[in-house]
Amino acid sequence: MQSSELKNLKIAVVGAGYGGAAAAKALSLLGAEVNVYEQANRIREVGAGIGLRPATMNRFREWGIFDAIAKVTSPSEYFEILTATCDPIMKETWPAAGEQTHTHLIHRGDFIEALLGVLPAGMVHLGHKLEKVEDKGDRSVLTFADGTSVEADLVVGADGIKSVVRRELFSDQGPVFAGEHAYRAVISLDAAHGMVDDDNLRMYIGRGTKLYLLPLRHRGQVSFDITALCPDGTWTPQVTKDDLLKTVEGFDERLVSIARGLDMDTVNVRAVYDIDPVDTWHSDSVVLVGDSAHSMLHHQGQGANSAIEDGGALADALREADSVKEALALYQATRKPVTDKLQSISRQGWSEDEIDEVFPGQKPAPAAPQE
Ligand SMILES: Cc1cc2nc3c(=O)[nH]c(=O)nc-3n(C[C@H](O)[C@H](O)[C@H](O)COP(=O)(O)OP(=O)(O)OC[C@H]3O[C@@H](n4cnc5c(N)ncnc54)[C@H](O)[C@@H]3O)c2cc1C
Repeated sequence: MQSSELKNLKIAVVGAGYGGAAAAKALSLLGAEVNVYEQANRIREVGAGIGLRPATMNRFREWGIFDAIAKVTSPSEYFEILTATCDPIMKETWPAAGEQTHTHLIHRGDFIEALLGVLPAGMVHLGHKLEKVEDKGDRSVLTFADGTSVEADLVVGADGIKSVVRRELFSDQGPVFAGEHAYRAVISLDAAHGMVDDDNLRMYIGRGTKLYLLPLRHRGQVSFDITALCPDGTWTPQVTKDDLLKTVEGFDERLVSIARGLDMDTVNVRAVYDIDPVDTWHSDSVVLVGDSAHSMLHHQGQGANSAIEDGGALADALREADSVKEALALYQATRKPVTDKLQSISRQGWSEDEIDEVFPGQKPAPAAPQE
């Protein structure tokens, strides 16, 4: 589209998570008028770390925000998988993308703060919970819980795994339980029992449990995450220290000691869900990005990274196509084959047989997501 057409576009982004913030940055750089509507009154993220892949960092370079993000990260060279008793299984250098060769490890809270911090003042409107989307062809109307509404030429649904935009317009399929729980905490380097002495991500696996140590050396901290098989699909389950310790039985004593030292009040506990692939991500004036389009299990560490790449691909498509309608089709054609595959390989982290071995006779029992 011509830059004069792009400048006249009124875009409403629903959700100020990584997907919404990245889309807002990329689309505002086109010159469009962008507003972001977020249900929360205050943006907060889980205390845990993630790895920003080289392709993601390249997008930040393109948007002129590389330094703002990189300064709250530690660059990492490789990812290692070990047994529960610390015998190496494989070591993989992060695949380079263009000039960017490092994955950057970041605290989720720092990441969303840095990303929202590069948006123009006044772009994000907190306390706006979307209730209804009306697709009127070449424009759409959003209605919020407080009764206010806005109209936009393009609505970007970045409202996460339980997306209202997806449910209203594209799919009534809800999230799918993975038969797992995730326990996440950030601890000080001193509490890591000597297990962390460089900036590389390590995963220890044994008997249905995956334990991750993700160094956040720039903070003097480590993200300590356990993903363990559990048939209880309650969205935010009640878990005791003893329950958590059972998941690391047989692990290296130093890893067990880290788990034993956790303050359960600081551990984020949630059942693990994704969604099945959604056939259509767009109409002529509404499009999905991030988890609302393709929530995936975290076993490949690609959900947030994919959400960032969606924002870049959507902006590219608007620049390349002749109309919004064509751009949305081009965006889906570019991104969906990639995320369909990631959704599929991210599910290859557990099996019903494995659950049967750990919890004989109990199949995963999904519960209706509550939040
Ligand atoms: C245990 C775990 C570990 C993970 N580890 C990694 C990792 O290592 N690497 C990685 O890349 N990814 C990881 N992920 C995935 C990653 O967290 C998600 O893919 C990412 O947060 C998706 O971003 P999003 O912006 O699409 O959605 P979200 O982060 O869910 O943001 C959606 C936003 O929309 C808002 N919203 C929702 N409904 C409404 C509404 N009705 N009106 C207005 N606003 C609304 C929400 O409040 C929220 O701010 C992990 C996920 C889990 C669960």
